[in-house]
Amino acid sequence: MPLPCIIDIPKDSHFPVENLPYGVFTIRTGDSPRVGVAIGDQVLDLAVLEAANLFNGPELTHKSVFAQDSLNAFMDLGRPAWLEARSTIQELLTGENPALKNNAELRHAALHAMDEVTLQLPVKIGDYTDFYSSKHHAFNVGTMFRGAENALMPNYLHLPVGYHGRASSIIVSGQDVHRPWGQVLPADSDTPVYTPCRLFDFELEMGFFTAGNNELGHPIPIDRAEDYIFGFVVVNDWSARDIQKWEYQPLGPFNAKNFATSISPWVVTLDALNPFRVPGPKQDPEPFDYLKPKDHWSLDINLDVQLQTEDMDQPHRIAESNLNYLYWTPAQQLAHHTVTGCNLRTGDLLASGTISGPEKHQRGSMLELSWRGTEPLELPNGETRKFLQDGDTVIMSGYCQGEGYRVGFGDVRSKVLPAL
Ligand code: CA
Repeated sequence: MPLPCIIDIPKDSHFPVENLPYGVFTIRTGDSPRVGVAIGDQVLDLAVLEAANLFNGPELTHKSVFAQDSLNAFMDLGRPAWLEARSTIQELLTGENPALKNNAELRHAALHAMDEVTLQLPVKIGDYTDFYSSKHHAFNVGTMFRGAENALMPNYLHLPVGYHGRASSIIVSGQDVHRPWGQVLPADSDTPVYTPCRLFDFELEMGFFTAGNNELGHPIPIDRAEDYIFGFVVVNDWSARDIQKWEYQPLGPFNAKNFATSISPWVVTLDALNPFRVPGPKQDPEPFDYLKPKDHWSLDINLDVQLQTEDMDQPHRIAESNLNYLYWTPAQQLAHHTVTGCNLRTGDLLASGTISGPEKHQRGSMLELSWRGTEPLELPNGETRKFLQDGDTVIMSGYCQGEGYRVGFGDVRSKVLPAL
């Protein structure tokens, strides 16, 4: 049964009392940004609750972590404070603590219609890493470029492959993306040309924000990984396939990935996602001990991608997937990232890599959906797509299905604009 709430939660809302995802918002231009929680189609202003001394447990009394322009100060406090905040907010919203329910003035000050606020990037992101953890994705891409026999690189089943990405160009849902310029090697030519990207793509991913700093030189043991995981967002890792193809050897992607990465605005905490844990995937060969947790978990998070061209009246779903299709789990990604002693810091983003499933409609990129352009996607209005065209809007979303409620992520939505 869903928990009760002092305000109406629309059916199928991503944001019931069971969720309580954190974001950063402003109400009017020029306002100070502050931290809020999504509840139904409203936003609960935590700065107002903090000023009213409603966060009065041992971890949060006299702290000022919500009248802030990012979640970092709150994330820095660690899980005891996160759990205390979660139960404080849950008690206020269920009415178990009547302080909000019975105070019309406070409710008026603390609750804002979601369509009247502007959501910002929720976290100050220091470093961004992107993995390649879906075996189905790696197999599809490897098959296209090297054939099914050699699809997976020899390292793939031994370690979570990743690369260090670019944090400065991470943007929040709603911000549009210009098609990038770059160097491309045309087919049947040995001379590159300088051109707007012609093979513009998305990648359906999820990412998690880390909190807490391990000391340089000290790996995080895999069984402590979740102490460092604050919460998750949906990630669209925009990709310039033709630029990538020419530049990637020998050091991996560079310009093909550094112009924009979009994230959903609400950070869904691991504590809200814990009821949706599922056993991690079977792994053969058995990983090294540093990648072998006592509790091998993943998460059952339904994901989808919708596309709307300028000639379409509504978006059309082009792919479905699930976080639990990943071969390497979030805890394994984090343990591998730090095995050298690399130090994570509060606010780092670790993304999964494209999450493709075993079926054709579960492919998380245009590259795979159109099989490198050889099988164009057919849209309901008769248009076709091999890759993204200017004016196309890509909308990704995700949710966990509970009994009578959903814990969701909202959307990450962005339109492709012409090259500048
Ligand atoms: Ca990626």
